[in-house]
Amino acid sequence: MKKVMSLMLGAGMAVSIALAGGHSIHWGYSGEGAPAHWGDLSEDFVMCKMGKNQSPIDLRTDKAFETDLPAIVFSYHASSRDEVNNGHSVQVNIEPGSYIMIDGIKFELKQFHFHTPSENTIDGKFFPMEAHFVHVDEKGNIAVVALMFEYGQENGVLARFWNGMPERAGDHRDISIPAEEIRKLFPKNRAYYRFNGSLTTPPCSEGVRWFVLKEPVTVSKKQVEQFARIMGEPNNRPVQPINARVLLK
Ligand SMILES: [Zn+2]
Repeated sequence: MKKVMSLMLGAGMAVSIALAGGHSIHWGYSGEGAPAHWGDLSEDFVMCKMGKNQSPIDLRTDKAFETDLPAIVFSYHASSRDEVNNGHSVQVNIEPGSYIMIDGIKFELKQFHFHTPSENTIDGKFFPMEAHFVHVDEKGNIAVVALMFEYGQENGVLARFWNGMPERAGDHRDISIPAEEIRKLFPKNRAYYRFNGSLTTPPCSEGVRWFVLKEPVTVSKKQVEQFARIMGEPNNRPVQPINARVLLK
């Protein structure tokens, strides 16, 4: 066993090269798999270092272009199916039948998951937690609605997902929370900032429509701490350069 271990250590370089392009890449948020290295972990992750439209970003509201943004039409009618700890976040998967309309296109809600602290920042400010509602259209295009949480009262809807949250990576459980509850996660005012970005996790694919709701909702410190404890480390990618992009408000 000892011999095998030292062989592996000695061949560490070769091992990581052999892994490139495979599926057993251990990306994460610290150490060798930290965000700064994502682009080198696999040729599939090259956008993480080469992309010019990467997420998250710091939203500079004073530099945002003011325009008449149409409301996002939310039609959430499906319940949750299950809750998965994928080792990078806790994700709630949604049954078919919930969607948003934006740009005249129907994007179906697939899942939502959480980051602590927030990934996007607003005028340099972090929020204790951010949820990403991931929607996909017929052609596979992605639209993410980001919801910020600030400290305050316990969030009753979140509590339903938090009680019995899968604690270890790979754990999951079935959980059927109706759409009307999921809709309650959102604030009344759904004004948003918009920009083009990417997935915030490998493979960091671009062409993602981002909508960051301006109004945060509350979460208790205890709820954030529970999530952070289960994750074991912050699961937020650092903000990326905005480059030539325009932020709309
Ligand atoms: Zn996310």
